[in-house]
Amino acid sequence: MACDPYLAPVPAILGLHPYQPGKPIEELARELGLDHRAIVKLASNENPLGPSPKAIMAVKAVLGGDLARYPDGSGFVLKQKLAAKLGVKMEQITLGNGSNDVLDLVARAFLGPGRSAVFSQYAFAVYPIATQAVGATARLAPAWNYGHDLAAMLERVGDDTAVVFIANPNNPTGTWVKREELLEFLHALPQQVVVVVDEAYCEYIEFADYPNALEWLEAFPNLIVTRTFSKAYGLAGFRVGYAVSSSQVAEFLNRVRQPFNVNSLALVAATAALDDEEHLAASRELNRQGLLQLTEAFEVRGLKYIPGVGNFITVDVGREAGPVFSALLEHGVIVRPLANYDLPNHLRVSVGTEKDNARFIAALDRVLSDA
Ligand SMILES: *Cc1c(COP(=O)(O)O)cnc(C)c1O
Repeated sequence: MACDPYLAPVPAILGLHPYQPGKPIEELARELGLDHRAIVKLASNENPLGPSPKAIMAVKAVLGGDLARYPDGSGFVLKQKLAAKLGVKMEQITLGNGSNDVLDLVARAFLGPGRSAVFSQYAFAVYPIATQAVGATARLAPAWNYGHDLAAMLERVGDDTAVVFIANPNNPTGTWVKREELLEFLHALPQQVVVVVDEAYCEYIEFADYPNALEWLEAFPNLIVTRTFSKAYGLAGFRVGYAVSSSQVAEFLNRVRQPFNVNSLALVAATAALDDEEHLAASRELNRQGLLQLTEAFEVRGLKYIPGVGNFITVDVGREAGPVFSALLEHGVIVRPLANYDLPNHLRVSVGTEKDNARFIAALDRVLSDA
């Protein structure tokens, strides 16, 4: 593309590509001339049950209030509730417009030219974007079996390294690091390096050796744990996430935070969602069954998949996945191709309702037998 000589973004921006989101339902419905209800979207790891009804009720109540006012920029009520639930102090929490926002705050507070961030091959695409956007260098560690190789990541840590990003589990591979491994890594990492443990999917995971990194905050002042209301809580459209860290790190993050980064509706929705344990349990159970449904279907068809946790599964379709993705679109099914992650034969499929999963499997059968 020819560049207007008068437009000069900082050099770091020139090497960036916008994050590729899943294709919106409305867009495909328009293209196919179908009703949006005819489309199955399993492309963005959203909760098929939707938000908690309690969250929706709370939001409706706010709509009758004074939305001409700015939100509470401190997020007091949500932070208070989170702090009590997580067993941390309110001042250890930083709220974000999605946890993506919090990842950006980490980059702005701790990265910049002359500094580097370490993350794994196949790691969540926001890490390289956040890193490069502030002019820092990305140091990529090769994956092991599609997952984070913490020893390789430790080797990549250099004198200029200020941040390490660990997605646990990782999106798009679903791979995860175990408690012992992660603890060993934290002990080995130089204390001045900030380590972000991104637990966007933690509410779904029930293995005994899956670590809750919050437990280590006292021991490791350089640790930041990020979580979100977008996945298991079903509030992706509201945009709320948070970081838990030492109070000092939280104070640094808050210095670069937009004063009103979480809107009034999102604050209320997230606060109410925390009260709905039943909805969370139902979401977890639907996900458990859906993962089984999808992985069994892959096994029956001899398709290899990455044995992951979370609310999605990444499958190797045994051929270039781009055309398979496009053909699935024609059947009204949206999944996620992963060529931009250097996984050209894989598709990431979010767990949907039983019916939506079945529609995906039927469409996949037709597409794979057509070719
Ligand atoms: C979805 C996701 C997030 C953040 O999503 P938000 O909607 O911005 O909270 C963060 N990390 C990983 C690994 C994710 O998959």
